[in-house]
Amino acid sequence: MVEDCNDPLTLAADLFCEEEMDLDTIEGAVEEILTAVGEDVGREGLLKTPRRVARSYQELLSGYRMDPRALLNEAVFDVAYDEMVIVRDIEFYSMCEHHMLPFIGRAHVAYIPTDKVIGLSKIPRIVNLFSRRLQVQERMTTQIAEFIDVVLNPQGVAVVVEGLHMCMMLRGVKKQNARMITSAMLGVFRNESSTRTEFLENIARGADSLRF
Ligand code: ZN
Repeated sequence: MVEDCNDPLTLAADLFCEEEMDLDTIEGAVEEILTAVGEDVGREGLLKTPRRVARSYQELLSGYRMDPRALLNEAVFDVAYDEMVIVRDIEFYSMCEHHMLPFIGRAHVAYIPTDKVIGLSKIPRIVNLFSRRLQVQERMTTQIAEFIDVVLNPQGVAVVVEGLHMCMMLRGVKKQNARMITSAMLGVFRNESSTRTEFLENIARGADSLRF
């Protein structure tokens, strides 16, 4: 989807779902799950659960309906600046597509402009655009980097994501503190080790350990 596209608007259209989320169908499916696990869907505490779950999916998976064109609108500027821009410790909340359980953590994003910069507040929004979907952390990391690469055509982009995965903490191997770290390095961050090191040293400085 993102990989083969160099046109920001085509890319944006590919990422955007026009149709509203079908909350009624989600509600019905949640009722079925409740019955299937042996619950009584008529029990007082559960009466509104299907609707609550549907609404929480609406929020947790809102990335499909964030319009990337609106996000970019009037936020890209021509500026003569060619030093590294870093936004670190961006919290994100995502859902693993294999188990539909949350994974959360933080993302660090850097780029070195060629002649365009993006409004600072837009970088966390780009992280939201890709995190509030059913995801795997590896793809999310690459998508954030490639999106910025297509939109700004910078000298390079770097993204490092640290995530804690509920599906790993609660089930299967049950590792409470295993952080997953993924990175995507493009352009000068890939080709020049000094640039990469400058970024990695910056995000390591004063970093707290990640916890739920
Ligand atoms: Zn999972």
